[in-house]
Amino acid sequence: MPRWECAINGCGHEYDQVEDLIVHQSAEHDRAECKVCGAVLPDGYFAVRHAFDEHTRAEYVRAYNASAAEVRQRENIKETIEETADIRAVVDRLEGGTDRL
Ligand SMILES: [Zn+2]
Ligand SMILES: [Zn+2]
Repeated sequence: MPRWECAINGCGHEYDQVEDLIVHQSAEHDRAECKVCGAVLPDGYFAVRHAFDEHTRAEYVRAYNASAAEVRQRENIKETIEETADIRAVVDRLEGGTDRL
């Protein structure tokens, strides 16, 4: 079973379930501001998803000063998470607030 590691600011928390990782990133880390449009989002997966769903690669590269390799890496992470995670369940947990956050 793959272990998912939180990479935000060298956090290093590890989770067996990707859903747990996303909840952790959303609930325990400060929110991140999109450098392209200024929207404030949960850091981690949701910030990455916003950046690539709402903005072009060119905008992302310019605003984040990212290399093509970095863009590819983040796109790969996003795809991997979306193949694995039940994002709807994550959102329900975050909005419901009944699970441990
Ligand atoms: Zn973390
Ligand atoms: Zn944005």
